[in-house]
Amino acid sequence: MSYSKDIYELVLKKNPAEPEFHQAVSEVMDALEPVMERHPEYKENRILERLTEPERVIMFRVPWFDDKNRIQVNRGFRIEFNGAIGPYKGGLRFHPTVYLGILKFLAFEQVFKNSLTTLPMGGGKGGSDFDPKGKSDNEVMRFCQSFMTELSRYIGPNTDVPAGDIGVGGREIGYLFGQYKRIRNEFTGILTGKALSWGGSLIRPEATGYGSVYFAQNMLETKNEDFEGKVCAVSGSGNVAQYTIEKLIDLGGKPVSVSDSNGTIHDPDGIDTEKLAYIMELKNVYRSRIKEYADRYDGATYHAGKRPWFIPCDCAFPSATQNEISGDDAALLVKQGCKVVSEGANMPTNPEGVEVFLANKVLFGPGKAANAGGVAVSGLEMAQNAQHTNWTREEVDSRLRDIMKAVHTQSAEAAADYGKPGNYVAGANIAGFIKVADAMLDQGLV
Ligand code: NDP
Repeated sequence: MSYSKDIYELVLKKNPAEPEFHQAVSEVMDALEPVMERHPEYKENRILERLTEPERVIMFRVPWFDDKNRIQVNRGFRIEFNGAIGPYKGGLRFHPTVYLGILKFLAFEQVFKNSLTTLPMGGGKGGSDFDPKGKSDNEVMRFCQSFMTELSRYIGPNTDVPAGDIGVGGREIGYLFGQYKRIRNEFTGILTGKALSWGGSLIRPEATGYGSVYFAQNMLETKNEDFEGKVCAVSGSGNVAQYTIEKLIDLGGKPVSVSDSNGTIHDPDGIDTEKLAYIMELKNVYRSRIKEYADRYDGATYHAGKRPWFIPCDCAFPSATQNEISGDDAALLVKQGCKVVSEGANMPTNPEGVEVFLANKVLFGPGKAANAGGVAVSGLEMAQNAQHTNWTREEVDSRLRDIMKAVHTQSAEAAADYGKPGNYVAGANIAGFIKVADAMLDQGLV
């Protein structure tokens, strides 16, 4: 067996019952096989054994009082996976499905993604099985305060800088930041995704969605095409989906769907800026269900329990959660003419789906490349905090575009260099890996 296959077997044995982590490692190990053949020094230095073992896993109790004064107990996590190229960086996810395996998959992916951004950031991820849905603002605040009371021991502006993810938006970041400041009596950039008036960066809320569209634009340019008139299926209706839609409209595309965990809206007339403003209000202010969109707009239909992949489209932007595109979904998308897939979410396409897209020469941007814009602007937020300054919207957006171009170029070039031209999955994994692996070699056995 090859070195990378051996490591996959080792990971299976050492991390039982963590299928998402296995899936993420499997994809990376497949992509790295030719790298290991060309670079025996990585095997000699046991780089893959070290890379698949988190540097630190922190797991803690989060007790809090609900509005009826009853005690609730959740579980909190922070995975500090790899700090070879910078302080650990990666989001916090609050969702009932959160457990160690999900966060290890996300933290592992983050290592390569952060490396691709060209910025000095290591990989981490954290969160809790807490479900913000249906909780009052006060309950969310008490939970966040308890969570940060423990987390504050492990993070810092030069150590580990968390951000948002599913279930953690501006409201949660505010409560978490407030508690850190209170405990440490220090106003430092220990979280990104902050509000503008207290250290946030312009374009951070937009960054992941915009970046995913910029990445798709870069892929389209390799075929001399653009978004003009292209029908785009988008999943999710949260942060990433909302700003994906905004940028698609801006670039002449026609977004025709949104979804949440209950079902999908199909609007064949297209979602325009006024409809998008309604979605944002519905989800961000009223924290309501996407179903209500169909009651308001004639022509739009609601499909309970469905994801958007039955909708004929030119481009697909999965922007909700992991494993939301199966092999069958991918086959149907291809059959109905989909030519571009840009993963705004992390690992939204399962391995069979990825196979289908690659076999059919779909321009397929894997999450670790396509959604790197979010963490990239988080990195820019850290840079602004360190300089005690704020850049303009134009400046941050232009840096984001440049970074997405660099992510695309590095992925495309690494794919071509290793004999897989056009395969962004292989390219992103290889380019992200080499930078981290070489930093690990430079720093000795730590
Ligand atoms: P939000 O919480 O803002 O939105 C998540 C959306 O996905 C909601 O519409 C939610 O529906 C839906 N969703 C969540 N879980 C499921 C599920 N199990 N099945 C179906 N739908 C689900 O999160 P974000 O938009 O921030 O994140 C979306 C994805 O993008 C995630 O994979 C995240 O890791 C990834 N990502 C986010 C970044 C960021 O900057 N925010 C950066 C890089 C990647 P409902 O309202 O019903 O829960």
